[in-house]
Amino acid sequence: MKTKILAVTVVVLAVLGFAATGCSVTSHATKASTLGTVRSGDDLKKSLSASDGSTFVELETVASADWAVTRAGLINLKHPNAVAAGLTDGDEPIIIPFHVIKHPTKGTFIVDTGVETAMRTDPSKSALSGLVRSAMGMEKVKVKQSLGEWLAAGNTLDGIFLTHLHADHIMGLPDVPNSTPVYSGPGEASATGFMNIFVHGTTDREFEGKDAINEWAFQKDPTGTFDGVLDLFGDGSVWALWVPGHTPGSTAYLVNTRSGPVLLTGDACHTRWGWEHHVEPGTFTGDGPRSVISFEKLQQFVAANPAIQVRFGHQL
Ligand SMILES: [Zn+2]
Repeated sequence: MKTKILAVTVVVLAVLGFAATGCSVTSHATKASTLGTVRSGDDLKKSLSASDGSTFVELETVASADWAVTRAGLINLKHPNAVAAGLTDGDEPIIIPFHVIKHPTKGTFIVDTGVETAMRTDPSKSALSGLVRSAMGMEKVKVKQSLGEWLAAGNTLDGIFLTHLHADHIMGLPDVPNSTPVYSGPGEASATGFMNIFVHGTTDREFEGKDAINEWAFQKDPTGTFDGVLDLFGDGSVWALWVPGHTPGSTAYLVNTRSGPVLLTGDACHTRWGWEHHVEPGTFTGDGPRSVISFEKLQQFVAANPAIQVRFGHQL
């Protein structure tokens, strides 16, 4: 009898394993973005000082919610710099932000989405499943300004630029009109992995009713500054930078604002401590070695262009 139970268990695990490796982040449709012009890392560098200010955009970061998550997920605690500093695991206070870009002629765009209003009024009515809310420790979320509340205050929105498709970066989407175009890095939706079994339904609900996700059409950056570089409006004001590792399509954004260039790293670097101590993200990251390469590219880019201000995925 024990042998039979063991055999059935093996079969069930094999089927589950197959389902796991074949499960994508979302079954929502995708298409190649027509927004964005392929440029090189050298073009990007020139844009940092080239503009006369006429096309400079405004950038505001909104801390949509306060939250706390395990430090080991945010920072690689096994990195020699983390060990030397005696950094230990525990709750790290973070924010769930969205960044507002106001372009003088193209309109208003946000990078990532903060949280939806239901997270304040009734989280059980949010797009997040109960399982995902519990696994992510969402009871620790304190909503400050949901995306819906920001829109209700009279703000308009012409498009959403996502850094990646993790739940805490797309959970404001249900508050957005379905006609608003959404952009993300390539291969985000189709990426497969075991954890997707739990988040697939949630991710589908976040995008419910929306048009296909526009995937950035990156091409290899010949300078190697980043994996790919796109000039989103063709005027050097806002750039998408391909920084795979945390997820396959992870994208950082460089915004040339009136007060200088600002880099939005997304989760290529979650925390200020990690950035300042040269320690890459921890266990929340899918491909650790690949994330180290992208993290170092971001650090080298800012070291060579020190006028750049940096805002991290979950801290300012
Ligand atoms: Zn993430």
